[in-house]
Amino acid sequence: MRTGQYILVVEDEPKIREGLQDFLEFHGFCVTGAADGLAAERLAAERRFDLILLDLMLPQISGEQLCLKWRQAGLRTPILMLTAKGQEKEKIAGLDLGADDYITKPFSLEELLARIRAVLRRTDPTRSVGQAFAFGPFTVDMERLTLADDHGTTALTRRQAMMLQVFAANPGRIVTRQELYEAVWNESLEGIETRTIDMHIARLRDLLDQAGQAAELIQTVRGEGYRYDVC
Ligand code: CA
Repeated sequence: MRTGQYILVVEDEPKIREGLQDFLEFHGFCVTGAADGLAAERLAAERRFDLILLDLMLPQISGEQLCLKWRQAGLRTPILMLTAKGQEKEKIAGLDLGADDYITKPFSLEELLARIRAVLRRTDPTRSVGQAFAFGPFTVDMERLTLADDHGTTALTRRQAMMLQVFAANPGRIVTRQELYEAVWNESLEGIETRTIDMHIARLRDLLDQAGQAAELIQTVRGEGYRYDVC
């Protein structure tokens, strides 16, 4: 089953990179490989990833330099570093530079998968998109609470903006009502009617429609939740 989550694998050893790519794709991730720091930099600037798997020892720009650069530039994508045995100092430095976790080579693929899932679980599902992000043809601004395109600007409530942020952080993936509720209302859905969420979604679709765009951007997946179809 596809997770709809995007991983950038930065590793100069072709065999390791391709092995990781195959393994993660098998487990439902969409994977892009980068053979060096410059390629990784370019890819991360071009599009959004849910997680970056970053080897420390790379030609041109090292993993540490890259991590530092990204964090200084405000990139918030979770970073899992790949280190070699005995690089204790580097590991600690890596965490100081803003990596979320590290794993020591040689590692088992199952362990790597568990670490990736743990990092994805504990990182805020919306942090990868930041304070201003694209939603279909719109730009959503979390500070001003606006939905804007070439034709105009529509005001959003904080909850509406947060719902859009959750969808934007999970393109193509089913977002359950429970997930929405936890992310936006910061509570568990227990004891709350799911109708509440559905009403908020209906209102959001009205807004998208009035702003001149397809309410179809947010699809209902019967019995499961909603899905943001980027198309
Ligand atoms: Ca390497």
